[in-house]
Amino acid sequence: MIISMKKAATPEQIDHVKQLIEEFGYRVHESRGSERVVFGAIGDERGKERLTCLEAQPGVEKVIRILAPYKLACRETKPEPTLIDLGLGVRVGNGKLLVIAGPCAVESQEQIMTVAESIKHSGAHMLRGGAFKPRTSPYAFQGLRNDGLVLLAEAREKYGLPVITEVMDIAGIEVISEYADCLQVGARNIQNFQLLKEVGKTNKPVLLKRGLSTTIEEFLMSAEYVLSGGNSNVILCERGIRTFETATRNTLDISAVPVLKEKTHLPVIVDPSHGTGHARYVEPMAFAAIAAGADGLMIEVHPRPEEALSDGPQSLRPNEFEKLMEGIRRIAAAVGREV
Ligand code: PEP
Ligand code: MN
Repeated sequence: MIISMKKAATPEQIDHVKQLIEEFGYRVHESRGSERVVFGAIGDERGKERLTCLEAQPGVEKVIRILAPYKLACRETKPEPTLIDLGLGVRVGNGKLLVIAGPCAVESQEQIMTVAESIKHSGAHMLRGGAFKPRTSPYAFQGLRNDGLVLLAEAREKYGLPVITEVMDIAGIEVISEYADCLQVGARNIQNFQLLKEVGKTNKPVLLKRGLSTTIEEFLMSAEYVLSGGNSNVILCERGIRTFETATRNTLDISAVPVLKEKTHLPVIVDPSHGTGHARYVEPMAFAAIAAGADGLMIEVHPRPEEALSDGPQSLRPNEFEKLMEGIRRIAAAVGREV
């Protein structure tokens, strides 16, 4: 249930209502917008009649029953967009387009430094790179692991770019949190509820990538796991879903952007690299994502894609990324967005 306070509610009225919700046995999720305070009462819906009576309390505007199962992620609980601080002055959710770029996997010092320098020069805001890689084959490159984290931290320091890297299991959360500004939960782990609960206990921003066969509602329920753990810094990433189509690696669900933006206050970004699996389709789908209202993009870039240890075919060369950024600025300007 949502308890929306009047614009003119006094601090005493607000505190009293909060206290009553807690006395009724609910956990309170407080959202202070520029206009009004909104409380989310989280708990067993069976006692909701008592909450409904709060409408009679001074300062209460209305009590609304939330039908969506994702109580904290839904727009009703928090009408204004969530703004997330990613470190080093980089933010997402403020209307400006966030561009994250970097290799699929950190492979060497030379590789990550070359990419970091070039994407910084081209205007990207954040560096990506997997240190722990979820690979379909156990014989494929699994990542540089801790050495990869150290290299990411070096690149962060040298180029002033916050970094995002994937956390594959609970055991990795602590060490990855020491090095990264944002924890990525990959498509294959989107319903690893234990992992979601644990990242929910951290105070690091978390990027959730939609699973290969995750519905929008399931995706939002995964976000709910993190939010309900107390971590409100969740970013959603559409990265393509599995369909009957084989011309592209996945089917990038661009319609997920307006659907998610309607249903949730969380920022939504798009990954056209994994979404298509082919470097030549990255640009048109990046443009489509901006036009659809995405808050940002995640793009794979490698100095020599033909030598990449993972995802070479979908990786852009630094000069191609530079050109993509020019296009991104044009498309963003056309739809009234800043980059
Ligand atoms: C990645 O971003 O490198 C990755 C493995 O993505 P996904 O989890 O979307 O497949
Ligand atoms: Mn990849």
